[in-house]
Amino acid sequence: MAKHRYLIALGSNQRHASHGSPRAVVAAAIKALDRGTFTLMTASRVIDSAPLGPSLRRYANAAALVRTRHEPPAVLRKLHKIERRFGRRRRGQQWGARVLDLDIVMWSGGLHEGTSRGQSLTIPHPEFRDRPFVTGPARQIAGLWRDPLTNLTIRQLHARLTKPRAASR
Ligand code: AMP
Repeated sequence: MAKHRYLIALGSNQRHASHGSPRAVVAAAIKALDRGTFTLMTASRVIDSAPLGPSLRRYANAAALVRTRHEPPAVLRKLHKIERRFGRRRRGQQWGARVLDLDIVMWSGGLHEGTSRGQSLTIPHPEFRDRPFVTGPARQIAGLWRDPLTNLTIRQLHARLTKPRAASR
């Protein structure tokens, strides 16, 4: 039984030899989230975003909602397997070229803190609230989903990042 729901963030900033542009990589990765033990419920449009950190490579980003029977550590392992299939090498380069990056933003089980084969796993993803390239696509498909830590919806978190603040008095 596919009882859990996961909100997954996808990103790419490097061409793939056969898939092509980062946008095409993200589109192909969305399809990979509809196989095996994953059922794709819905996906956002693919957006272009500015480079992160010192990198000059532009990103393509999207978000997907999937159903699966698996608990978070198994889902992280499956996401890493998909990343490897797309040629991703994990060598600690934080800002470098990456064919495909898949993160668990939230899941239907609320908070999760643990490790999976020595790798940390924190859900909600610790940085997603500061990343408009995550909240933007996520808002398209799960705008009313509430972050269990802040109790704000994804729509509210996105607005907080993108709306100009009222001048402080
Ligand atoms: P990244 O370079 O963005 O793929 O993330 C590197 C590491 O972050 C992964 O190998 C995970 O161990 C860890 N991590 C912690 N929380 C999460 C999460 N919610 N989703 C994905 N990776 C996570």
